[in-house]
Amino acid sequence: MTLLGTAYVEGEASARCELVVEQQMESYTTNQPKLNPHWVFHDGRGHEHAPEGDDLPTLFAWSEEMPCNGLCGGTCGGEGYFETTWWCRLCGEQVKPGTIAGPHTFVVPGMRSWSATVYGRVPSQGEFEVQIETERGWFAGKACARDLTVGGGSIVTTIAGSGPLEEIE
Ligand SMILES: [Zn+2]
Ligand SMILES: [Zn+2]
Repeated sequence: MTLLGTAYVEGEASARCELVVEQQMESYTTNQPKLNPHWVFHDGRGHEHAPEGDDLPTLFAWSEEMPCNGLCGGTCGGEGYFETTWWCRLCGEQVKPGTIAGPHTFVVPGMRSWSATVYGRVPSQGEFEVQIETERGWFAGKACARDLTVGGGSIVTTIAGSGPLEEIE
């Protein structure tokens, strides 16, 4: 996402700028089984059970607190764990949803990184506070100068966000 705006840097005149915000993606892996999206099952009364996305709309989930069985490797601190069972909403028959064994890797939105091209002067050393006014609102964050170009009497500075970019009123 690129936004045009005006940068206000502490102690410097305001300057035109282009703000670039990038959403980074992170992946994580779990050994837990996941719901098999292709699982279809008919119980004894002929009721059909199948996932809808991540949900099992035809089943009722019941979670029961169980005492520690040692499988946690001592991490639960004696708290035990919850065991979930599923039951047909219509006839009450217990149904075991189909799963696919792990490990599974998921990709989720992670940090947002940001940088800006400022058509003006910014402090060349260290971190500074910058506020940026754009058509999508005001943003604020801490940044450092990364690159400075001087030519034809104008100064263009690339700054890199060194912390989160926050939306302000
Ligand atoms: Zn335990
Ligand atoms: Zn049923």
